[in-house]
Amino acid sequence: MVIYWLRNDLRFHENVALEAAVDLSFKSGQPICALFTFPDGWNEVGYGGLSRFSPRRKAFWEDAWRSFSGRFTHGPAVAAMADEARDALERLHASTPVSGIVFSKSFGFNEQRLESSVCDWCLSRGIAFQTVENHDLFSEAELPFAVCDLPATFTPFRHLVESNGAIRLLVPPASRAREGGSRRSNFEPDERSAFPWDGSEESAKARVEAYLWESDGIASYKVTRNGLLGTEFSSKFSAWLATGALSCRYVWSETLRYERERTANESTYWLRFELLWRSFFLWNARKQGASLFAPNGWKTQKEKPQARGMPSVEGFERWSLGKTGNALVDAALNELVASGFLSNRARQIAASYLVHDLNCDWRLGAAFFEQHLLDYECASNWGNWAYIAGVGNDARPLRAFNTAKQALQYDPDGKYRDLWLGTDWRKESDSD
Ligand code: FAD
Repeated sequence: MVIYWLRNDLRFHENVALEAAVDLSFKSGQPICALFTFPDGWNEVGYGGLSRFSPRRKAFWEDAWRSFSGRFTHGPAVAAMADEARDALERLHASTPVSGIVFSKSFGFNEQRLESSVCDWCLSRGIAFQTVENHDLFSEAELPFAVCDLPATFTPFRHLVESNGAIRLLVPPASRAREGGSRRSNFEPDERSAFPWDGSEESAKARVEAYLWESDGIASYKVTRNGLLGTEFSSKFSAWLATGALSCRYVWSETLRYERERTANESTYWLRFELLWRSFFLWNARKQGASLFAPNGWKTQKEKPQARGMPSVEGFERWSLGKTGNALVDAALNELVASGFLSNRARQIAASYLVHDLNCDWRLGAAFFEQHLLDYECASNWGNWAYIAGVGNDARPLRAFNTAKQALQYDPDGKYRDLWLGTDWRKESDSD
């Protein structure tokens, strides 16, 4: 039996790991068993004693797995917890000997440790394993530099990869999948949510279709992307990209097709520009390893901005409860907890406020986002937090947002705050 070990590649479209498993199965004449391991930390508490998965984030992953397993036609499909991966393999091997394993390489430090342990298991039993790169626009070999030489900031990274033309646009055909997978979710979205969808691959593909081809949202993305309200100000692709229900190379190639068939402008390019940010953070996570979670990030002590007094834990508690007294920040925290989504603008405002106004440990904020964000991805989350805290990839020493200015610019009529706080903030808040 061939094992296709999946983690965040829960899709049939543009899935090079699945293609490799199908190929191996064809050559060996053996069926494929899909073994999905739920993400690391499923039932654990993380930094600051915070649980790493809200029920909503769990439900989103379960949707993706249900949709995948319901359509998998190549053999059995089973699931296990990440820390039980080796036991699950042992059980499968005992029932039908495993001849080979295919899996996609990951970027997070803990996920890579799990990979090493699975590789050790294979080596100790003489079982061949094959790794592919399925989660980013580039494979490591396609990068125009060694990972250890990844530029320290985004712009030189972008120039290098754009001029190198390294992005693989070959989208393999979808493997045979049973029609009509489940789009059922165990979680009802909050009716105010900017992200009201389930985690299935079908919903991911439908969203690409809607945002590009039905509403032409992509054609004005650069103008709308700093919005706070509704489903249409940005693509909302991130959560499916995180579970792998959506392929970033598929999104990339669809934007190019859109430019060929409809229109090309600054906005259509800008969506790819943002996907390059995702890519930058992924390779940065691979480069930094465990430093991604270190208090000083990957800045040397000398480069690190001066801390202002003792970090405040009490401030973090008020922030996480949406009770700081700053209406814009409180609205953002309410939205995050109620819906599992937050716009990029609101993430920046909330993160900056925790670090620079409340003088709190940035890692508590990152852990809180990890718990709640449906699109949580270790590289993007910890990378963006470190960036705002001034211990990551930002060339500027201090990136503090002025919330009063942000409110004037991005929520001038207060509708965002009304939605997530009710209208009482208008009487009570004098801080923004
Ligand atoms: P769009 O604006 O439509 O962008 C398209 C895609 O580009 C996104 O889906 C995403 O894949 C990528 N992208 C856009 N901005 C960024 C960015 N700053 N960094 C990395 N990729 C980007 N994104 C995550 O996917 N997971 C996280 O855990 C995460 N945590 C964050 C924490 C903080 C403190 C901040 C400031 C940002 C974080 N982001 C994270 C990045 C960004 O906020 C989200 O990707 C974006 O808001 C998702 O909405 P969208 O899909 O509509 O994005």
